[in-house]
Amino acid sequence: MNDRGYYSGFGGMFIPEILSTTFDQLIAAFRAARSDPAFWREYEAIMSTYSCRPTPLTFAENLTRHFGGARIYVKREDLNHTGAHKANNVMGQGLLVKRMGKTRVIAETGAGQHGVATATMAAKFGFECTIYMGEVDVERQRPNVFWMERLGAKVVAVRTGTRILKDAINEAFRDWVTNMDSTHYVLGTACGPHPFPEMVTYFQSIIGREARRQILEREGKLPVRVYACVGGGSNAMGLFSGFLDDPVQLVGVEAAGRGLASGAHAVRLSSPDASVGVAQGYKTYFLQNRDGQMKETHSVAAGLDYVGVSPILSQFKEIGRARFEAATDREVVDALAFTIRKEGLIPALESAHAFVQAFKEAPLLDPADAIIINQSGRGDKDIFTVADAFGDPAWQQFIIDKAERYRA
Ligand SMILES: *Cc1c(COP(=O)(O)O)cnc(C)c1O
Repeated sequence: MNDRGYYSGFGGMFIPEILSTTFDQLIAAFRAARSDPAFWREYEAIMSTYSCRPTPLTFAENLTRHFGGARIYVKREDLNHTGAHKANNVMGQGLLVKRMGKTRVIAETGAGQHGVATATMAAKFGFECTIYMGEVDVERQRPNVFWMERLGAKVVAVRTGTRILKDAINEAFRDWVTNMDSTHYVLGTACGPHPFPEMVTYFQSIIGREARRQILEREGKLPVRVYACVGGGSNAMGLFSGFLDDPVQLVGVEAAGRGLASGAHAVRLSSPDASVGVAQGYKTYFLQNRDGQMKETHSVAAGLDYVGVSPILSQFKEIGRARFEAATDREVVDALAFTIRKEGLIPALESAHAFVQAFKEAPLLDPADAIIINQSGRGDKDIFTVADAFGDPAWQQFIIDKAERYRA
């Protein structure tokens, strides 16, 4: 990275002039925090008492026996408070907001998970909180909207554009421009203008730091490969951070949705459908047409359904430091069902993308070698989506009966 946040030409800071002081202040606060050992200690302390850090590294004995190749370990980010690795980022930014003396946080959210995590952090630290969410997502993600409101957040349904995540991001920036003195924008993944990719990666690096120490304790050596799903790229960057200087293959898995040929997917790094462009404050691979119009994306996993991707992962693709693969909705639902039944683990649909690729490769690896899969979140919170994906008729009847009871 150079000092304007470029990673081999990806990234950068494409922001409205009026926000430049706010960004300078944020960069300075982040630099100061990062060079203060007390800050990381405070971060670890809050994550160990308010969330579940260090999260365990689980040996998946049954899966290992089934595939008959590498020893499969699972990093349990699902055990974080609010059910995913997102807690690592929001709590870290929350501590930074306290240091900057601001009193209000805003965030964008698509599936609602980052909104719930941010609203939780705001409740804990006593910040005012506004969450921007596309109107379409507000309708699709009612359970998360319910929790955000209970946590005291104001949820704003965004009615501009196609009324989804990218429109919510634009609206959040608009809010920030008007309220920059009091407000911090808690960006949800390792994307957006500098310093967000670097800052979110820094907080998520707790995953990789722990995983490296844990696997060395258990196996006495490094894993040969580590696997993570890639939406914006924050859980992948978090795990990868622990192994950047090691001879470890980093494998990122994107959402192939209904298949590459269908056009209904969110594959930015492992298909020729994406191209480099500038949007939402940074330069990276976007799913866009020739005039830079963003394409519609699709995944069964709402958290992977995004048009851009971390500029740091774009760099890793360019320099060959990581390998990127993709898993279809069908493969993901099968791998999820199998993992639940075989190991009693319930990964989120997002995380199940990483399992798909690891299951393809594990049988081909040496039984003396170890691999790590990042279970970025838990699937039981996704019961509406998961039960739909499994097509469970008893579940459908349950919903119908419930609706009828409300109507009566
Ligand atoms: C949000 C989310 C993701 C995708 O975000 P990244 O920034 O790519 O990590 C993946 N898994 C879970 C469980 C999520 O909630």
